[in-house]
Amino acid sequence: PPIIVWFRQDLRVADNPALAHAVQTGAPVIPLFVFDEEGEGKWAPGGASRWWLHYSLEALSDRIAALGSSLIVLAGDSQSILLELCERTGANQVYWNRRYEPAAIDRDTRLKKALADAGLRPRSFNGALLHSPLQIANKSGKPFRVFTPFWKHLRSIAVREILPEPKKLESHGFETLGSEIESLELLPKLDWADGFGSVWTPGEAGAKALFEGFVERGIARYAEGRDFPNEDAVSRLSPHLHFGEISPVQIWRMLSLEEHEPFLRQLVWREFSAHLLYHFPDTTEEPLNSAFSRFPWEFKGDWAEAWRRGRTGYPIVDAGMRELWKTGTMHNRVRMVAASFLVKHLLQPWQVGAAWFWDTLLDADLANNTMGWQWVAGCGADAAPYFRIFNPIGQGERFDPSGEYTRRWVPELAGLPDKFLFKPWEAPADVLEAAGVVLGVNYPLPIVSHPEARVRALEAYARMKENE
Ligand code: FAD
Repeated sequence: PPIIVWFRQDLRVADNPALAHAVQTGAPVIPLFVFDEEGEGKWAPGGASRWWLHYSLEALSDRIAALGSSLIVLAGDSQSILLELCERTGANQVYWNRRYEPAAIDRDTRLKKALADAGLRPRSFNGALLHSPLQIANKSGKPFRVFTPFWKHLRSIAVREILPEPKKLESHGFETLGSEIESLELLPKLDWADGFGSVWTPGEAGAKALFEGFVERGIARYAEGRDFPNEDAVSRLSPHLHFGEISPVQIWRMLSLEEHEPFLRQLVWREFSAHLLYHFPDTTEEPLNSAFSRFPWEFKGDWAEAWRRGRTGYPIVDAGMRELWKTGTMHNRVRMVAASFLVKHLLQPWQVGAAWFWDTLLDADLANNTMGWQWVAGCGADAAPYFRIFNPIGQGERFDPSGEYTRRWVPELAGLPDKFLFKPWEAPADVLEAAGVVLGVNYPLPIVSHPEARVRALEAYARMKENE
């Protein structure tokens, strides 16, 4: 009987444990993708992720067709679809690669039982991470909460070998059971995502080309360049990794720890966030450090909206937020600065920012996003201490010294000299006039004053501590 290989966030053919094991049995394989929005709980894919998924499914479907088979695409409840498909095709086994987010774990656990109860054999594998979170613990057998010991542990254990990629997949004859990818209606109705296609190539081939180009051109400069948004020194692999178009095992085994340690260390932050979410599943909504559940946030919708639109009056923050809107990504350094600005300068809850990122980031990933926001807000594992408040002027001057990144995304300030680029409100009237900048008219005045906001944030923190 055939084996159903259920694709999820592993939209690749190479180094895919579920697929490789199914092919190895010699049984016919039925590749399946189910768009199961409800199965994602509160975290159904946001707008940007849906765009990516559409094109990634097209790429996977083409890849599987080129190998001789076809991907069946369906939408609805995973469990009912799998049970029905087994019945219609005579398949008696279902293979998949595990996901480690809380809603996915709940769903898959129920589903495994339902399949077994129906006399079918489910088998799951780890295809998403270097090591399954079930196998990683600190010396006292507890989850890690600090990155450095986690990293030391991970770098000391062997990573499995890359699995062989099938040369051919037999046709299964059930093509007509699937729907068109278009019928999932993943593409946005608004023209907002139109620019994404010029920046990104979703799919396994796009991931491979990007990785190879990065190894050739960027990786040597990674350690010095990774903090500078205008340097082409980071890999931009995050959406490909999120959708499993390239596996961390492929990356790890193709690089050497001696030579590429700074990059591999960063890749392990992804493992760390998956580890944290696996062990602390409530952190998608609740701070890991429970003292922060009493943090005196100010709920100001218009401030949050100015932040989302890149109209805070702080050029480095606005540049990042506009880059996000236009390209579906934001450089990591600027993510930290923009996120910190929302949480500390504007005192808006980190969950508000996490929700916006969830909807607009092409690499939106529940584990990484949750950890990123809790890190910035000071309430997560191994987080930045709350009282260390990023100065959005200094951060701009330091990490975008030529101002090119900021001028690209905030073109109305392009004519300002470097000296005032990150604090236009300090520029003399004649300088502003020469640059064509009219503050409050074509570029906003700062929404809050940095020194005042800093004091207010520290006071809010002190109030939270008093109530401990
Ligand atoms: P590179 O520097 O080339 O790193 C290679 C890979 O390592 C990345 O693709 C990513 O998979 C992993 N990685 C690198 N840095 C981190 C990190 N700090 N945390 C976790 N994994 C990391 N990353 C996401 O993938 N999805 C998110 O939703 C997400 N939300 C974030 C929210 C906030 C507030 C912050 C501060 C960071 C967030 N990050 C998120 C982490 C980081 O910004 C991105 O992974 C990184 O910018 C992606 O660019 P890159 O692929 O060029 O990274």
